[in-house]
Amino acid sequence: MLYYFTNIAGSLVKSKPSVHFFLAACYTYGKSMAHVALETPLFEVVGARSPSLRRLEKMGVKTVGDLLWHFPTRYEDFTKTYSIAELEPGQMATVRAAVEDVHTRHSFRRHMSIVEATLADDSGSIRAVWFNQPYIANTLRPGREANFAGKAAISDEGEIYLNNPTYELVRLRPGMSRDGVDADGGGVGGGQEFNHTGRLVPVYPETQGLTSRGIRFAAQQVFRRGPILKEWIPDAILNEFQFPPLEKAVRDIHFPRTIDEANAARERFSFEDLFLLQIITLQEKLRLGTKHAPSMKADVEWIKSLLARLPFELTPSQKKSLWEVLQDMERAHPMNRLLQGDVGSGKTIVAALAAFAAARNGFQTAFMAPTEILARQHFETMRKFEEGLKSDGAEHGDGALPALGLLTSSSAFIHYGDGLASRVSKTEFNAKVTAGGIPVVFGTHALIQRSVNFKELGLVVIDEQHRFGVTQRAELLTKAASSNGRGMVPHFLSMSATPIPRTLMLSIFGDLDLSLITELPAGRKPIETKIVPPDGRKDAYNFVRKEVEKGRQVFVICPRIDPAESEDEASGAVAGDSVQGPATAAKSPARMRALATALELKSVKEEFEKLSKDVFPDLRIAMLHGQMKAKEKEDVMKRFNDREYDILVSTSVVEVGVDVPNASIMLIEGAERFGLAQLYQFRGRVGRGEHASHCFLMTTTAAQAANARLKAILEARNGFELAEKDLALRGPGQFFGQVQTGLPDVAMEALRDPELVKRSRDAAINVLKADPSLKKDPPLKKKVEEFRKKLHRE
Ligand code: ADP
Ligand code: MG
Repeated sequence: MLYYFTNIAGSLVKSKPSVHFFLAACYTYGKSMAHVALETPLFEVVGARSPSLRRLEKMGVKTVGDLLWHFPTRYEDFTKTYSIAELEPGQMATVRAAVEDVHTRHSFRRHMSIVEATLADDSGSIRAVWFNQPYIANTLRPGREANFAGKAAISDEGEIYLNNPTYELVRLRPGMSRDGVDADGGGVGGGQEFNHTGRLVPVYPETQGLTSRGIRFAAQQVFRRGPILKEWIPDAILNEFQFPPLEKAVRDIHFPRTIDEANAARERFSFEDLFLLQIITLQEKLRLGTKHAPSMKADVEWIKSLLARLPFELTPSQKKSLWEVLQDMERAHPMNRLLQGDVGSGKTIVAALAAFAAARNGFQTAFMAPTEILARQHFETMRKFEEGLKSDGAEHGDGALPALGLLTSSSAFIHYGDGLASRVSKTEFNAKVTAGGIPVVFGTHALIQRSVNFKELGLVVIDEQHRFGVTQRAELLTKAASSNGRGMVPHFLSMSATPIPRTLMLSIFGDLDLSLITELPAGRKPIETKIVPPDGRKDAYNFVRKEVEKGRQVFVICPRIDPAESEDEASGAVAGDSVQGPATAAKSPARMRALATALELKSVKEEFEKLSKDVFPDLRIAMLHGQMKAKEKEDVMKRFNDREYDILVSTSVVEVGVDVPNASIMLIEGAERFGLAQLYQFRGRVGRGEHASHCFLMTTTAAQAANARLKAILEARNGFELAEKDLALRGPGQFFGQVQTGLPDVAMEALRDPELVKRSRDAAINVLKADPSLKKDPPLKKKVEEFRKKLHRE
């Protein structure tokens, strides 16, 4: 209804006498012609019968706001108008021409309809061709004048023609019926304001048959109605960084007059997310600063006596990190610190000593790992460590070392400092924890999330914490606070082996303080790393066999396959979800993740088959992937640990940080598909024992062996350098792989820009300095809350 109305009104306005009628009509249709809010459903604007509406809704674009924030990915430059005679092959151009004749034919062989038109201007004539858009013949009637924008192609016969040009009617003569408008409703209204031709034309991510033209049309309808956009970035910031105000930015990102305008708008939107993220992380930091935590005295002499009895000397940065942690724990406000160091750099001992210090102060530690396998491993490490200290004989302080507990989904163990370890019932275990009888408890996040009530939780250690975004961390803290008997917030120590680039550290992890372990313990054997092109595969397998004969074990990591490259292949793997083919399928992040997982699984299964049937039929091979049950995974890992398997074929996402010292070969399939940081991490899983270790980076093609990225790994001394490089080369999405940060794509992309990250951080610091709770700036406060919810939802 509205759809007709707008077009008729548009034509009436041009014939001036009707202005009054137009205004009267506006009045009559007052409600629908009013400004639209961001929440206004799109159908109220484009009309329930618009052919684009259903497709937009299918993409999740349901409101005016959704549409306005559906940004173009690029712009086609049709600013310059050419005469037909000027056109050169290959040129992107707009011509203004009249339609001389139009006809439609069908190619039955190619199953398509072809519309051909002859267009003419003063300089000459040209043919235009459209495939499978039969409705065009209804619109482009002979005699009509239009702008045609597209590529001047050249036929086999050497004739220049316009291939599938976008068009926009220039003039609609009075009395012409409304069906003169093409099915997308191509921009007639106003006549002088073009949206598809003669300007910078936005090109949107096109999906499910929804063309950029359709989206442009809808966007134009929205702009005509005057969307209500409320600025929320403080003026001072807008001025300081010269960002366009919201209303202009929204218009400019869709319909810019110049590329500079578009870029300025885009920068503003990138800044928005970073700025909000900074406010949230900094507020989180401030919030923690106001909370109370148990102040724990660091008994330096006692710590020194422990260190003296370790079988090794801590590296300088282990010492420094430990000191930073202990100092934080002395404060009456919660520590929130990230301990970062390469795989094998010795983070566990630092955390263990912190747990000892907490126990000595009468507080409990929850030591949490992402998987039960890792939790068990930490428990074992610390148990052995205690036993080492005991057998050393020396007395220390008040005697006994703290009891350790391990809680898994199936069982519970207690190890008393005096060397006794025993399996107990979960009920008994929980009762002991609640009574304060187990000072250090190992487990997964279930420890805090549901199962256990601590008496006096003083320290929470989280291994491989980069899997969490800022809101998850905040939630964990809140939960931890409630499991501390006195309602105090415990100190937090996170550990991660993923080298996090500085920009991410300052944004996604901006709520954390950082301790770095920068060197590996002395005496580690370097891992010999080789790039192996396809013709080197045989040698690599021979080498694997020899190592296995010597008793060593092998990891084979299979690649993530980019769903964009091989959706067709994957279609069978994603249950209940039909795939439309690479060009048209919706590429929502969730969908891409699902596809990536499916493809990765496929590649693991294939590799497993190949190795166990063809290559090493005599060896013991197991497979590990994310779709196995936790119990099955644990079982496989345990057996691999116990040397019941020679080769473990695994996906890239499971069991980061697993420590199998007897594994000496890391073979990475499709190495070119992985990020640098990831490759670096995989390699770190070998070289942890006494054996010389090897890493093979298998490439899919011979040419990829020359890949500069892979070569960087060979030279890499340090993971941080690589992480920065990786971020620059592939962007943060790739950096994190499957990790969910909860950040929208725009923000993820913006994280590539260190300058913008810095600006956003400075701006957020300034704002919060003046107004920590944002109570003086309700619009900003509201926006921050919305963003927080969004981060949480993703
Ligand atoms: P990660 O940082 O990857 O968690 P771990 O804490 O598992 O590393 O330490 C890897 C191995 O190095 C462990 O066996 C640990 O006992 C040992 N280790 C830790 N610190 C030192 C050190 N300073 N000197 C020698 N070995 C060490
Ligand atoms: Mg570790």
